Amino acid sequence: MDARLEAIRDTVLARNPGEAEFHQAVVEVFESLGPVHDRHPEFLDAAILERLCEPERQIIFRVPWTDDAGRVQINRGFRVEFNSALGPYKGGLRFHPSVYLGIVKFLGFEQIFKNALTGMPIGGGKGGSDFDPRGRSDAEVMRFCQSFMTELYRHIGEYTDVPAGDIGVGGREIGYLFGQYKRITNRYESGVLTGKGISWGGSLVRPEATGFGTVIFTQEMLKTRGDSFDGQRVVVSGSGNVAINAIAKAQSLGAAVVACSDSSGYIVDEAGIDVALLREVKEEERGRLKDYAARRSGVSYVDGGSVWDVDATVALPCATQNELDGDAAARLVRNGLVAVGEGANMPSTREAVAVFQEAGVLFGPGKAANAGGVATSALEMQQNASRDSWSFEHTEERLTDIMVGIHDRCAATADEYGDPGNYVLGANIGGFVKVADAMLAQGLI
Ligand code: NDP
Repeated sequence: MDARLEAIRDTVLARNPGEAEFHQAVVEVFESLGPVHDRHPEFLDAAILERLCEPERQIIFRVPWTDDAGRVQINRGFRVEFNSALGPYKGGLRFHPSVYLGIVKFLGFEQIFKNALTGMPIGGGKGGSDFDPRGRSDAEVMRFCQSFMTELYRHIGEYTDVPAGDIGVGGREIGYLFGQYKRITNRYESGVLTGKGISWGGSLVRPEATGFGTVIFTQEMLKTRGDSFDGQRVVVSGSGNVAINAIAKAQSLGAAVVACSDSSGYIVDEAGIDVALLREVKEEERGRLKDYAARRSGVSYVDGGSVWDVDATVALPCATQNELDGDAAARLVRNGLVAVGEGANMPSTREAVAVFQEAGVLFGPGKAANAGGVATSALEMQQNASRDSWSFEHTEERLTDIMVGIHDRCAATADEYGDPGNYVLGANIGGFVKVADAMLAQGLI
């Protein structure tokens, strides 16, 4: 790493102790930025990096609620409003027991660059709670969401901060959150949250957007080598919103998607995953993958273990951070892997990314490959602002154009900085320069 940036990195890590995921995200970005600072010493003079790593605002709050047995439960809520140089803070809410400040900050930091890459006028933020929705009744989830919003509402707004979903936060949770916001503020402010239901301000294609976008980005990478999804053997991790829609899109392009996972285990379905059955089990029934295996012949279910033990030519990690390590990467490479598209945020460890890059595997980092979700959220905000709703076809066309644009911008930036095909470099520099220029123009804030 560039020596000037090393000193800044060390200060950032020391100022944010115990936040391993945030450290990882910062280091990964800093490693790409040496060449930019050679060309733009003004960024160093204005302390752009030091400012970028310090969130504009961090909110931590108590979320008290009662469970179905009448017992009081206390969770912790977070919203990190990281950077508003390009527009209102924008980024999802994650409800998962592993959530703490370091996770929210890593996600918020990544979001700044991702949102810049989309070309839409949105800043970066992220939030969530250590609440675990798994095994909770609808009524419990509603009471939790209402309590969460009873604090959050004062910090958000369509021109201020616009949350959306992430792990553990889907259409049901966005509905409860929006209802409580509307009740407290007495405003039908559609643009305050994205991922809403279609009949009350949501956008067609938003539920599919992250998974579809990841596959579109990966397809663009494959095209640079005269290849496509047609005939690829694909393994996907996760079986939530991003994973299911990535599976559907990859299949529509002719791929055989043979495995996916949840946090308990994974399935191998050599006939190709049955997306309708997967949606029924995971989305409608909120069930487990072993229920899928029980209902379809020829499917094996592996309890525990790693889905990355299944051979693939294309890997789409769509579950969570650091789920694909260096050993798994090396095994996949040995067995014929040609491309990786990250649907999740930072699912590959630093060692795994190094293995992919050294082996010449096409590697699309999450901040570029999974940006279709937030881009379509920005399209939802556009529709809300103009009181309009677009057709599926039109919205999907916009999403496709945006993903092809992100791919091309990353590729062109990597070329410009002398490392063709390095999408990590292209994404980090492409996102950074846009935000840095805006911060310079706006003075010392
Ligand atoms: P969901 O909650 O819909 O699904 C998450 C999936 O990943 C589930 O199958 C879950 O298993 C699995 N999973 C979660 N945590 C773990 C873990 N610690 N170990 C193993 N498996 C785990 O979330 P999304 O699909 O929305 O999000 C998935 C990823 O995509 C996240 O990294 C998120 O940040 C990223 N992302 C999401 C966007 C969106 O629009 N939703 C936008 C951009 C990125 P189980 O069912 O057992 O809980």
